[in-house]
Amino acid sequence: MTPVLYIVIPCYNEEAVLPVTAPQFLDKVKSLAAAGKISDESRVLFVNDGSRDDTWKIIKDLAKQDPHYLGISQSRNRGHQNAVLAGLMEARDRCDITISIDCDGQDDINAMDEMVDAYLQGFDVVYGVRSSRETDSFFKRFTAQSFYKLLSAMGAEVVYNHADYRLMSARVLKEFANFREVNLYLRGLVPLVGFRSTTVSYSRAERIAGESHYPLKKMLGLAIDGITSLSVKPLQMITGFGVFVAVVSFIGCLWALITAICGKAVAGWASMTCIVCFVSGVQLVCLGIIGEYIGKIYLETKERPRYIISERTDNWGEKD
Ligand code: UDP
Ligand code: MG
Repeated sequence: MTPVLYIVIPCYNEEAVLPVTAPQFLDKVKSLAAAGKISDESRVLFVNDGSRDDTWKIIKDLAKQDPHYLGISQSRNRGHQNAVLAGLMEARDRCDITISIDCDGQDDINAMDEMVDAYLQGFDVVYGVRSSRETDSFFKRFTAQSFYKLLSAMGAEVVYNHADYRLMSARVLKEFANFREVNLYLRGLVPLVGFRSTTVSYSRAERIAGESHYPLKKMLGLAIDGITSLSVKPLQMITGFGVFVAVVSFIGCLWALITAICGKAVAGWASMTCIVCFVSGVQLVCLGIIGEYIGKIYLETKERPRYIISERTDNWGEKD
């Protein structure tokens, strides 16, 4: 039996891009099916992430044109990671393999052939890895690379230069569904699920149209989510730093005491001010980091639904 593939595609305000890339995804599904690698029951599943433009309308029209297109719509914009999760969770009972990919044409869809081959050879997870970042701006390249370095320094296991272009088998998704956290950083969680994995490299192109939805603020947000969801090292670093500051302060106190006893005490206003500023700065940073984790715990304890689907295309049908 050939496996059923669902290509999961998050879309947020992509009306300029979708009409161009949707047929490419469809062609890919059809050509893989024609080559006998996947079943003709395979689908292209769009996840509308609460777009404000005509994206959902385009998806509904596509679903009317060809039964291979399916669409679900989130009740509001929840962010890229969440949209991918919604697509994967909705697809997992209907297919044998999923491939998640962005809808902007930046990821080379031809890498899917190799991904499916790897699956057929027995790999359950296949990470798409960018071979170069030439098409990214210097800024994007620099921030992305610093991020990977920071993550690995923090002891979080991530695949270098892998975004969210990856194949996952239904077996992996079934286990993945047990990772109940709402604080999502998919590419950090997938390696934790385990199973046999490999990588396929591809070159990343420029966005076909429209603008990136990952400005610096969102990238920083993703970086903080990544670190705090995968590692408690920052908390350990705070303890280490606290010990260091305590030792230095102790030496400082000794020194001040000796100077005073020797009667050489001068009004050290400047040094006093510096020390107070430094220590209060350190304390605030440490409190901030601890607060970050407490905030995450707070969100997790609420156990809010991780995604809410408000609409589905007419051809969605019931699960069999
Ligand atoms: N996206 C989404 N919700 C968001 C932001 C982005 O579903 O809130 C989708 C977007 O439509 C695209 C993918 O996530 O398919 C990646 O976004 P983008 O191309 O803007 O990011 P970049 O490639 O610049 O990192
Ligand atoms: Mg993009």
